[in-house]
Amino acid sequence: ELDTSSPSLVRDPNKCILCGNCVRACEELQGIGALGFAFRGTEAMVMPAFNKKIAETECVNCGQCRVYCPTGAIAIKTHMDEAWEALADPNIRVVAQIAPAVRVAVGDHYGLTKGKSVMGKIVNALHRMGFDEVYDTSFSADLTIMEESAEFLDRIKKGEKLPLLTSCCPAWVKFITDQYKEYIPNLSTCRSPQGMMSAVTKEWFRDPANNPEGKKTVMVSFMPCTAKKMEAKRSNSFTHGEQDTDYVITTTELIDMIRMTGIEFAELEPESSDIPFGFGSGGGVIFGVTGGVTEAVIRRLVPGHDKETLEAIAECGVRDGGFIREFSIPYEGIDLNICVVSGLANARTVMEQVKNGEKEYHLIEIMACRRGCIMGGGQPTRSGDRTKALRAKGLYNADNTTIIKKSDENPLVLELYNGLLKGKEHHLLHNDSY
Ligand code: SF4
Repeated sequence: ELDTSSPSLVRDPNKCILCGNCVRACEELQGIGALGFAFRGTEAMVMPAFNKKIAETECVNCGQCRVYCPTGAIAIKTHMDEAWEALADPNIRVVAQIAPAVRVAVGDHYGLTKGKSVMGKIVNALHRMGFDEVYDTSFSADLTIMEESAEFLDRIKKGEKLPLLTSCCPAWVKFITDQYKEYIPNLSTCRSPQGMMSAVTKEWFRDPANNPEGKKTVMVSFMPCTAKKMEAKRSNSFTHGEQDTDYVITTTELIDMIRMTGIEFAELEPESSDIPFGFGSGGGVIFGVTGGVTEAVIRRLVPGHDKETLEAIAECGVRDGGFIREFSIPYEGIDLNICVVSGLANARTVMEQVKNGEKEYHLIEIMACRRGCIMGGGQPTRSGDRTKALRAKGLYNADNTTIIKKSDENPLVLELYNGLLKGKEHHLLHNDSY
């Protein structure tokens, strides 16, 4: 029997060859252990303990089991059909958002330079499929930086709820809310970039001045991540009672959608994303790699945006040092102790040290997938070390070639704060509870 209970994954035991890769990924990389071997000999099977449904376990929906499964016995739960149906309905405005890590993974499939951003081609492909608007999630990553850095400074000033724990990775949020409940108040209240983009876009089109035809808006987000499918359904991902993100499509599904349309992706001319939410700063783009959130926050805190300042930030320890990176930066007379972690088994190590009082930090950034979203559970699989490094490099290159580096200098972000967001910042950009 198929297990379709998860919002992100489908498990088909008929395809399982008992290699145990998923068991090891879940246990050794993520420290969760939602899957294990049961029975012996010809009866042997991989399953959650007591043959529970996957949704009844502590699975965080990160999809790393799917990345390492060689047969498709664990696959992405697809939402392509729902997206096609919305695109076919003339009474619906279908809006796409594209996460940073997607743009450095799609090109591989078409034999394009590994890790090179193909954002412009993706935008063109989505316009051809019929998406009315195509926005860039690095724009809402800028919003996340604005809100999260303000929240961070406020907590430092008050000396409360430290360390601040980042909240943009839903698999990490599920991990902490399941396993470290006492640290829930430390989670940033900021919605993820996916959540902010969808809430803001729907609010924008609720205004009849921006939607004279009175069309319904459907948000489709293109993500490197299977856990984002779960986040979209979380009770705090609704505004005015409406689900903010309607459908989450992973990079792998995007490649399938391009194939279904017969578009010659490699031949497409690049197009720019749409205004008003189609431009993100360099700080927003690097969100897709571990350390990116922290680096963007530091850029916001440190005055100046000259080359030397940005290089000094990049070299402060945020980009190098493996899956657990510790460093300090001086800020207004104090040393801010920061830890950047990727991989949930590593997150557990750090959280245990914090709990035991062995380590004290002001800020901890955690991404469930090792190396961050560039290696998310919805990305194309079979990526070796070279591909992993090139995807990170691709995002840093996209940052290098973006004219605006700091979130607080993105003019579209500033315009939004002076317009639509006035008095609605908390309502549209924050979670009231986890
Ligand atoms: Fe998703 Fe990124 Fe978290 Fe992986 S690290 S679960 S891709 S948000």
